[in-house]
Amino acid sequence: MKLATIRHDGRITAALVADGGYRPLPARNLSELLAMPEWKGIVRDAASMLGGSDVIPASDATLLNPVPAPAKVICCGLNYSEHIREMGRELPEYPTLFAKFADTLTDPDAQIVADGSVDLDWEAELAVVVGSTLKDASQDEAAAAIAGYTVANDVSMRDWQRRTLQWFQGKAFDATTPLGPVLVTADEIDPEAGLDVVCTINGEEVQRGNTKTLVFSAPRLLAYISTFTVLRPGDVVLTGTPGGVGMGMVPPRFLKDGDELVTEIPGIGALKNVIKIRVGAAL
Ligand code: MG
Repeated sequence: MKLATIRHDGRITAALVADGGYRPLPARNLSELLAMPEWKGIVRDAASMLGGSDVIPASDATLLNPVPAPAKVICCGLNYSEHIREMGRELPEYPTLFAKFADTLTDPDAQIVADGSVDLDWEAELAVVVGSTLKDASQDEAAAAIAGYTVANDVSMRDWQRRTLQWFQGKAFDATTPLGPVLVTADEIDPEAGLDVVCTINGEEVQRGNTKTLVFSAPRLLAYISTFTVLRPGDVVLTGTPGGVGMGMVPPRFLKDGDELVTEIPGIGALKNVIKIRVGAAL
């Protein structure tokens, strides 16, 4: 099943993608829905209805960031073997983790503006959304607690990222990580069986990886993270990006003003974001 957070008629609601449109669910967004212990039953009930007058036509709705209020957004860097090599590093024994804020996330079609940075780079990623509480979990428990998967681009401000050894400041500019367009429930897709992760700029393909080559799978990442911090419904984990980022090119390449960045995982959907660079904005 596919779930979404949509705007329709000035109202924002969680919804099931069904019957060529969206069937509203009783929550304002998927963060609120996943916080309900009975969310799976609510979704199943909505999916079992056929047709009906409550379906909002797709053309009347705008897809928003599906999970706007995670308490935790945790990201894995260096998780695809070819990307690790292009960054000049060895395959890791432990995942490289960093955090973002909910404020860093934005809508699947949002314009991306990062005042203060001129070296914007792309990182197409599979994002995992947590569906039930995890603490000290095994990989099997972590796998069972995944609500579903969505698409992210961990757009990175390399000039800020390189200022210090800690990446955080180059990864946490407000409203620069698009997420969406929908959440596909974990019973429908399996990243370990292989999902393509593709990034294009103005139609030119710059990244193509496959999730079956992740060094740390989604369940392994969630289990590992849950040993030191509790994960709760609606939390988001970004699984890392494949090779082909601009910083790894010779010479390095960065996004330009007006570029259209498309991030796609077939089976989930595509993010389409136009980049806004303000000349002379570097601080
Ligand atoms: Mg990343």
